[in-house]
Amino acid sequence: MAYGLGRWLARLGVQLVGVGCGPNAATNTDAPFVQDIVIPHDSSVDGRQAGRGTTDAQPLSTGTVRFDLGPVALNAGTGLSPLLTVLLPLGTRSAAVTTTGGSDGLHLVVSRWQSGAGPMIVVPGWLDSVGAPWLCTDGCLFRQAERPRQQTALAPNCPAEVGLAGANTLQIYGFSVDSAHQAHPAGGSVGVRVDAVVGSAPEHAVLRVNLCLTGALGISAAVAPKHSRIVAAVAALQDIFADISVAVTVTYADVGGSPFVSHDVEDAELSKLFASGAGQPMGVNVFLVEKLTYAAKAGPLPISGLSGGIPGPVREVGGPQAGVAVSLQLGVGEEDRLGVAIAHELGHFLGLFHTEEPASPGKVPQGDQLFDTASGATDNLMYWSPQANSRKLSAQQRAVVWNSAWLEPK
Ligand SMILES: [Zn+2]
Repeated sequence: MAYGLGRWLARLGVQLVGVGCGPNAATNTDAPFVQDIVIPHDSSVDGRQAGRGTTDAQPLSTGTVRFDLGPVALNAGTGLSPLLTVLLPLGTRSAAVTTTGGSDGLHLVVSRWQSGAGPMIVVPGWLDSVGAPWLCTDGCLFRQAERPRQQTALAPNCPAEVGLAGANTLQIYGFSVDSAHQAHPAGGSVGVRVDAVVGSAPEHAVLRVNLCLTGALGISAAVAPKHSRIVAAVAALQDIFADISVAVTVTYADVGGSPFVSHDVEDAELSKLFASGAGQPMGVNVFLVEKLTYAAKAGPLPISGLSGGIPGPVREVGGPQAGVAVSLQLGVGEEDRLGVAIAHELGHFLGLFHTEEPASPGKVPQGDQLFDTASGATDNLMYWSPQANSRKLSAQQRAVVWNSAWLEPK
């Protein structure tokens, strides 16, 4: 994925699956190289008979239920948590597992997830596979990507059938990345929660967005609602989501985060920016910054946007990955794509991968897990390098977005 692992993925014939977006973001070739690591597993353990018990459900909003599994210890030697069990209610149509915490250098991912009906959503052995521990495609019925400090896995995020209701078994894996960009199992204490969306989807939904102004280009919360560029961007954002029956409501706030953010494997600057959004109303924080760069070996490269995950944490404000960042930087003569860029990052944040990653020599570009997103279609919102006309979402992309607990019935 675009957490600075391009070269490693390219060697494996795997394309970048990015949260870093823009003409330059996914074409970096000097990213760190990470070798396979081998993680011991006890595949004989029956998760249904082991691990922590289920805690009481905490209603969040209509149709959404949160299960807090409490603090969980990751074994320092294996990086693995105990097996966790959560009992999801009948009618659960999607669930998001969010893991938060540990030290700053702790990267997190789900190592095992068995659904209530029995199918493995995440196969434990994936940590021995080529994409591990960064990105699970082949070993995951539903694709997931790691993140530092906080990670969310969503199921389903493709049209495959799975029964979530019942006892789900989970296991979390933590790892650190050394200066040579090698991954190593790492321990720590993390919080794990599951947000379940229950019942049939409403016909219309609301997505609440907080536009967080960092002072970039002198645009404050007082100015933004009348600023012509922001007004146009918000209109484009609302148009794009209206096509999938989602009404985007926008609030404006000044935050203290830096308007200059550098993206690297640890993304400490990004987490600081997202933390500056604490205290905003419940909604997805969208940070408008002056400049976003990728810390490439040859020097900083501009990128248009970053998401705190694919998806980002559900219904949380101020967390280490709770938000998206979008650059206001506009080159001379460049068409303004701000509204599309915000919508694209929100697409990631709600669970959408790129329809297709950029091609590399001799390799077939890696597509998403959806069957109705055409390869090379630049008019799709989740085209890897969003253009001004990249606005469409397919029926299956709509279904993924509608699985997000961020959507509230209208
Ligand atoms: Zn992207």
